[in-house]
Amino acid sequence: MYKKHNFGAGPCILPAEVMEHAASAILDWNQTGLSILEVSHRSPEFEGVMIKTERLVRELLNVPESYAVLFLQGGASTQFSMVAINFLKKANSASYLDTGFFAQKAIKEAKLFGSVDIVASSKDKSYSYIPDHYQPCADAAYLHLTSNNTIEGTEMFDFPKPGLPVICDMSSDIFSREINVRDFDLIYAGAQKNLGPAGMTLVIAKNSFLDSVDHPVPSMSDYRVYRDNNSMFNTPPVFSIYVAMLNLIWLKANGGVGAIESLNKKKAELLYNEIDRNTLFSGTANLAHRSRMNVTFTASSPEIEGRFLDLATSLGMVGIKGYRTVGGFRVSLYNALPFSSVEALVALMKQFEQQIILEECLPKTVFDS
Ligand code: PMP
Repeated sequence: MYKKHNFGAGPCILPAEVMEHAASAILDWNQTGLSILEVSHRSPEFEGVMIKTERLVRELLNVPESYAVLFLQGGASTQFSMVAINFLKKANSASYLDTGFFAQKAIKEAKLFGSVDIVASSKDKSYSYIPDHYQPCADAAYLHLTSNNTIEGTEMFDFPKPGLPVICDMSSDIFSREINVRDFDLIYAGAQKNLGPAGMTLVIAKNSFLDSVDHPVPSMSDYRVYRDNNSMFNTPPVFSIYVAMLNLIWLKANGGVGAIESLNKKKAELLYNEIDRNTLFSGTANLAHRSRMNVTFTASSPEIEGRFLDLATSLGMVGIKGYRTVGGFRVSLYNALPFSSVEALVALMKQFEQQIILEECLPKTVFDS
């Protein structure tokens, strides 16, 4: 079905089977004679989708019963302020780990609602690593983390247990690897990487943490309102949730999160090995924190960068240009990206290196003869 190798950072590639099912549901959903785009969110059929999607999230991530699973709107960016509105009480501060562009955005929003303490930052080295050895304030309302830094290409593999509530933005690595949900009090993630199309935000939160909020919160920012209305306080993002359900069915059929994690490790290893071997490219992230979802690297010169980008694009490889403020390359390896796409990219990197070596040798050879 696909004519391109889609290495885009998000919205990103989804499995071909999911696209096919979604396309047919737009025309006629399950032989109802209606499109999925025109059914009532209160219909028993769509309520079935909500129940099934929640069940799949719980099963695939092993979510304990004491946690709520919510489907919200507004993207992960809305969560930057929503967590602060709910949990950052004016009396104390919240602790944030500053690991990159999106962590900074979360910090900026939280500051509107109270005092923010940056426990550690990797800004000193262009966010190329994840800080360790930090101590959040004992009375902080929560510690906020970003498990995968989509732009900088770093990922957290060890999560702290600070003895205070932990909130984590998992937008770009949720469902890519096994996690212990109990290590967190609230997880949020925009859908448009490994979950589904943009439009829905997944929140997984410990019920007792939600119930600890003791000040009035506007309904649309109140997690408990979504929980108590089965994520249907207002019209939910019907299509985005439906496609997420299809995608989770695909993930389950393909062995679940453990199986996809093994494949993701292999894809990342193949690409990082080539980056380390190839004389034209260098990885930008600290080895111990290299993201398996977003691989960032630079070329030996702007000319080499431009030529490789043009070459890859001409061969149907899309989405490899680094983030606009960072430059270089960013290759995203989300769940649905086939291993063969990584093989194709790696083969091209090898071939390109040979071509450059040949070009560099050519004048010398001509001169020698
Ligand atoms: N956090 C992270 C880690 C992200 O990668 C992104 C963007 N993909 C966001 C937050 C913002 O997400 P959204 O565009 O859904 O608001």
